[in-house]
Amino acid sequence: MENRVVEVPEYEISQRVEVDPRRTALLIVDMQNDFVKEGGRLVVPGAKLTIPPLQHLLEQARRTGMTVAFTQDSHLPGDPEFALFGEHCLVGSWGWEVIEELAPQPGELVYHKRRYDGFYGTSLEHDLRVRGIDTLIIGGTVANICVLHTAGSAALRWFRVVLPRDAISALTEFDLESTLRQVHFLYRGTITGSGCIAVKG
Ligand code: ZN
Repeated sequence: MENRVVEVPEYEISQRVEVDPRRTALLIVDMQNDFVKEGGRLVVPGAKLTIPPLQHLLEQARRTGMTVAFTQDSHLPGDPEFALFGEHCLVGSWGWEVIEELAPQPGELVYHKRRYDGFYGTSLEHDLRVRGIDTLIIGGTVANICVLHTAGSAALRWFRVVLPRDAISALTEFDLESTLRQVHFLYRGTITGSGCIAVKG
């Protein structure tokens, strides 16, 4: 196939995003050993580099009293997804666990999801609504798979979506850029950096 080159359409990257911690949740998507750590089943290049930005976001969220939530890709033996990607994130395995650098603390929300969308088959929407959350800061992996589907699903439910680009990893640069462009253009999300989120006092 001939080598095709496409230009990424311009999208805005916000240098300062203000959030109200009482109405905001930080949602960390699928930062599990299988996707991040050497020896994992489906390692995403660059996922390791997102650990410090995610740690910064996590520290900020915990310090300011935001809701903190995690999704965890969770498959049972024989899951049909294994035909697409091979066996990964088998419930109870080392690869399934959230990486220790970002380990959830007691009381934080953890969603075991079967598919790409963190809202599908989980109580995520209910839990956010009862807490009065209207804004989601979403980071993690894989950009165009679980991050995009979860961000899109949130936006379809009229949550405001904020994506810190340095806290998201993809298999290719194209996948990352197309995700950010799609969230900005279609879902009217805010693209920013992990150091650009200001918390209202
Ligand atoms: Zn999976």
